[in-house]
Amino acid sequence: MKYYDKLIFELSKEDRNGFSLPENDWQETPENIPAVLRRAVPPDLPQVSEPDAVRHYVNLSNMNFGVDTGFYPLGSCTMKYNPKICEETAAHPGFSGLHPLQPASTVQGALRIYDELSRFLCSLTGMAAFTLNPFAGAHGELTGLMIMRSWHISRGDLKRTRIIVPDSAHGTNPASAAVCGLEVVQVRSTPQGIIDVEALKPLLDDRVAGIMMTNPNTLGLFETEIHEIEASVHAAGGLLYYDGANMNALLGKVRPGDMGFDIMHLNLHKTFSTPHGGGGPGSGPVGVAAHLKHLLPSPAVHCRGGFLTVEDQPEGAGRVSGFMGNFSVLLKAYTYILMLGKQNVRKVGPYAVLSANYIKESLKDCFRLPVPALCKHEFVFDGLSSGQENSVTTLDVAKRLLDYGFHAPTIYFPLLFHQSIMIEPTETESKETLDAFIDAMRSIAAEAATDPDILRSAPHATPVRRPDETLAATRPKLVE
Ligand SMILES: *Cc1c(COP(=O)(O)O)cnc(C)c1O
Repeated sequence: MKYYDKLIFELSKEDRNGFSLPENDWQETPENIPAVLRRAVPPDLPQVSEPDAVRHYVNLSNMNFGVDTGFYPLGSCTMKYNPKICEETAAHPGFSGLHPLQPASTVQGALRIYDELSRFLCSLTGMAAFTLNPFAGAHGELTGLMIMRSWHISRGDLKRTRIIVPDSAHGTNPASAAVCGLEVVQVRSTPQGIIDVEALKPLLDDRVAGIMMTNPNTLGLFETEIHEIEASVHAAGGLLYYDGANMNALLGKVRPGDMGFDIMHLNLHKTFSTPHGGGGPGSGPVGVAAHLKHLLPSPAVHCRGGFLTVEDQPEGAGRVSGFMGNFSVLLKAYTYILMLGKQNVRKVGPYAVLSANYIKESLKDCFRLPVPALCKHEFVFDGLSSGQENSVTTLDVAKRLLDYGFHAPTIYFPLLFHQSIMIEPTETESKETLDAFIDAMRSIAAEAATDPDILRSAPHATPVRRPDETLAATRPKLVE
């Protein structure tokens, strides 16, 4: 073990410290602090010098893998590089010092950003209005589905408690629907990987509130029958919900509003900068078509004669967040969109699609490609094309990639295949990076034939190798 791999408590030495604070009056007069707030025993903190503390945290950060460390081709989760200028804007004291209860007259600049960002999102998606209040994608889904229910209830259409969700959907879709009190009805995909319209039609009756879709879907395939789906769902009195967590493939090219969707959410922390994967903060704005505008949650920003106000929506879905969302994430998205500008935002989709197809075509002789169509921003392999005879699994491939310095793609999702490997490269990676990844994947495919044990025991070069993921999440071992 290296010296600095020690826990910080083991480095602790009585009376050593790494800071100096200015004198304060309290030290002289502890009785000024109410007794309930006074500690009986000093806190058990490590006593270390500044270099020890710095090395501790830098070493910890080096044990992790992030999009700033290397390529992170996580399908369905758009792990793109996040430009540092977005962080700089979000950290600006003029924004970070604001208090959510400040009067509107003192935060006109922040409200203007809220208002302008909503408008940017409207023009990128073809929706009529956006709320930026929800904190995450799943939170946006719940908000959107509450709007869907409110719409039916407000029309006295009380029977509509079913929601149709394709079998390829992201797991949050059926989960949000269930939390919203809707009954999930699954519609199957065709062998070509898109929604089976003939299977959908018999499901559309007067109990259906709507359909939740991702387009392109989680196989990275564009739902080419979208016009027929839209017409059928609307004719049956249902609404169309668009899961826009990953808008990468469409950005600046195609708009959900133009496809006929009534409600949608975006993940600002996937498509529009903001690092994610560590549990937050995120942002899941919800957009609606004109006929649903009045149902958006409270509060909303309105422009009254040039002055921006924060108002409750009397007919709306209520409050979904304490204030107005994660403002720092909104700032990053705002910066990101302005930085790209109207011209460059149109290039995001084509480059993301080109990168995904380039990897897919370069690897399809080594990995099984169940749906060989042209993909959008991502695609799915179903394990190695050889390797079965050596019982090398998708998990082994993913673990071995870490030894090559790449984060693993999403694995075992979607559930349509047993050995799913879902790859999404994004537009921010250079061709050289894509080539290096392709080389690594090809080497791994070769190893599966010649040295399968090296895969089955991988990773070899990481601080932690194969943790029990359930145990690590439910009972993390934070201290030795
Ligand atoms: C990530 C994702 C979500 C959920 O977003 P969270 O912010 O993690 O709640 C929903 N749908 C799709 C397709 C996603 O990729």
